[in-house]
Amino acid sequence: MTAPDARAGAAAPRVLLVDDTEDLRVLLARVLQRLGARTETAVHGQDALDRVAEAEAAGRPFDAMLLDMQMPVLDGYDAARALRARGSTLLVVAMTAHSSAEEIALCRAAGCDRHLAKPFNPELLRLLVEELRARMPTP
Ligand SMILES: [Mg+2]
Repeated sequence: MTAPDARAGAAAPRVLLVDDTEDLRVLLARVLQRLGARTETAVHGQDALDRVAEAEAAGRPFDAMLLDMQMPVLDGYDAARALRARGSTLLVVAMTAHSSAEEIALCRAAGCDRHLAKPFNPELLRLLVEELRARMPTP
């Protein structure tokens, strides 16, 4: 087990956190940064789509997006559908307060790859960051 500080020089996965609740954005950013990820935030689905496009245009695409499904303007379902319609293969992790099989199926149908139930299990977030880091190309 290596402390995050000890691998500060290692590649840091870039994660876009999308949630309309500011407290959750702040909390998730803090947890993921502590785990060694770099984070950006978006406040609704349209904001997220814009961030993804900007990051890709700048040549520094995100490695994953944590996507709240219940949001104003453009919700997570429509955001995921729009992302897939653009041909994006970005790893999308849906976040919902309910985790019934039906809810998870709806997230998958919209194009999400995974599902995380709120409140978050920190161990699952740690595993996600580890997985993203392992996927990153070695320079
Ligand atoms: Mg919400």
